[in-house]
Amino acid sequence: MSLAPEVASAIDRAVESCEAELASLAARIHAHPELRFEEHQACSWLGEFLTSHGHAVERGIAGLPTAFRARAGRGAPRVAILAEYDALPGVGHACGHNLIAAGAAGAFVAAARVIEAIGGEVVLLGTPAEEGGGGKISMIDAGVFAEIEAAMMFHPFDRDLLAHTALASLWLKCEFKGQPSHAAIAPHAGRSALTACLDTFRLVDGQRVHFRDGVRVHGYVTDGGQAVNIIPERAACEFSVRALDGEELGRVRGIVERCARAAALASDVEVSVTVVHGYRDMVNNMALARRFGAHVRSLGRQPRERDASIGAGSTDMGDVSHVVPAIHPWLAIVPEGEALCHERRFAEAAGSPAGVSTALMAAKAMARTAIDYLADGDLRAAVSSEWAARAR
Ligand SMILES: [Zn+2]
Repeated sequence: MSLAPEVASAIDRAVESCEAELASLAARIHAHPELRFEEHQACSWLGEFLTSHGHAVERGIAGLPTAFRARAGRGAPRVAILAEYDALPGVGHACGHNLIAAGAAGAFVAAARVIEAIGGEVVLLGTPAEEGGGGKISMIDAGVFAEIEAAMMFHPFDRDLLAHTALASLWLKCEFKGQPSHAAIAPHAGRSALTACLDTFRLVDGQRVHFRDGVRVHGYVTDGGQAVNIIPERAACEFSVRALDGEELGRVRGIVERCARAAALASDVEVSVTVVHGYRDMVNNMALARRFGAHVRSLGRQPRERDASIGAGSTDMGDVSHVVPAIHPWLAIVPEGEALCHERRFAEAAGSPAGVSTALMAAKAMARTAIDYLADGDLRAAVSSEWAARAR
């Protein structure tokens, strides 16, 4: 790595000097969970922290009230550090986005302290609604990433991984319309929407033998009928479809749609299928991920590059990774195997001292990596040649 040791230690000291503020930021956001696009309090606390460190904050960018941007340095190359801060219904900060927010804010403030001597620009992006709202997609569409050369964030987990799969995803909503009749007096006169709905699940299960590795199809019935003595006129279900890449996602989407149509045919009912686009798969830029890993190692942890033994979800950072070279490393806040994202035990860990200490380490590693990227032309060349050669 080309980052001068005195620059690395200046970054580390800068993070340490706002340790108490960052811990308080993480704790406040944790104690006040806000759902997607409603993260007003988290944004205002993050804004206060940045302003108190002398940074101007542009709020409401990309037409999203809870998105924001701050800049340090001036001009290209520009590297972005991304914050998330939304919580989940029922389980609060069970994905640890409060730690992502504190880590990103700390990384930005620390990078800002050394950037004048390096050149280029570090951009902090506050990205709302990772949990199902796709704030980053709106920000991509609004051109926020057009000036950015590389982007990074970290995510809490139960192990340290430099790169991990994030699945391409979409939702399929199927609505069946049949013919109601009295289920006892005239069952022969009805056509059951519910039968078609349930047959869809059975047909999809039969197709699983043809799915490639990494595919996930899971669903539930959202409307199963109106009364026990009426042959159901309307029934509906929803599936989440995920795959390792967009091509397989499209293929499996076609299979699920075909199953719904076949089920409708069998019951002589009508079906309408609506597709809601989710997130793209994550393209991890390994040149940048490995450099992040070198900094994490020098900060005393031993990240693995990948771990195929653990499952994967989906994130709108995947969409970002198709627009600019990006990394989304995972860092442990619990002992391996103890808890995973979206569990109550993970929410507790996101509010624990271990969670905060991981966020502080992540802040140092991200600030070092961002400054390293701006300082090291060879790293930038490696990142962009890997980007140019990626599979599309
Ligand atoms: Zn998350």
